[in-house]
Amino acid sequence: MLRYHTVPVTAFQQNCSIVWCDQTLRAAVIDPGGEVPRLLETADRLGVQLEQIWLTHAHIDHAGGTARLARERQLPIVGPHPGDRFWIDALPQQGAMFGFPAAEAFEPDRWLADGDTVQIGRCTLQVRHCPGHTPGHVVFFSPEARRAFVGDVLFAGSIGRTDFPGGDYQTLIDSITQRLWPMGDDVVFIPGHGPESTFGRERRTNPFVGGT
Ligand SMILES: [Zn+2]
Ligand SMILES: [Zn+2]
Repeated sequence: MLRYHTVPVTAFQQNCSIVWCDQTLRAAVIDPGGEVPRLLETADRLGVQLEQIWLTHAHIDHAGGTARLARERQLPIVGPHPGDRFWIDALPQQGAMFGFPAAEAFEPDRWLADGDTVQIGRCTLQVRHCPGHTPGHVVFFSPEARRAFVGDVLFAGSIGRTDFPGGDYQTLIDSITQRLWPMGDDVVFIPGHGPESTFGRERRTNPFVGGT
């Protein structure tokens, strides 16, 4: 079964999640935006073996620590979708843009597409392409654990911004209603920022996508 521990990192309190298979203790880091030493300490304390980096999208608060973490632990970088290549290439400039320390660009070892799967230990997660916040945004869904790691697509009571280059409001709404809702009302999602919620709760109460 999939387990996870969320560590808010960077000035944007981005929810970096360490996810692992509880039978093998093999782990992946989703969205290492920064504070790499703290992430490594947390993984050690949890007693898990980091083996992969998974990215939902390439904004600096999600991807800023990727190059360093990949180099220090020799980890493959998986994701996001190629639509975010321009954001990866712009990571050095994103530092100045968002008031962050400079971040390095990198080359993913594997790009992701809708319908792909990623695996850690004996756990398999489904990949859904959910553009709108960024063109190459993906989410990771564990049908077994009933958990989805959704980055900046959906938040408790809100949705991702669409005013950045490549963002599009209607595309984001379609991603949420056509790709997230079918996963099930009971699914708990871990957003990129702020507290967890369920898809069912957001379907009922979220002012942007409630009643859809
Ligand atoms: Zn973002
Ligand atoms: Zn974010």
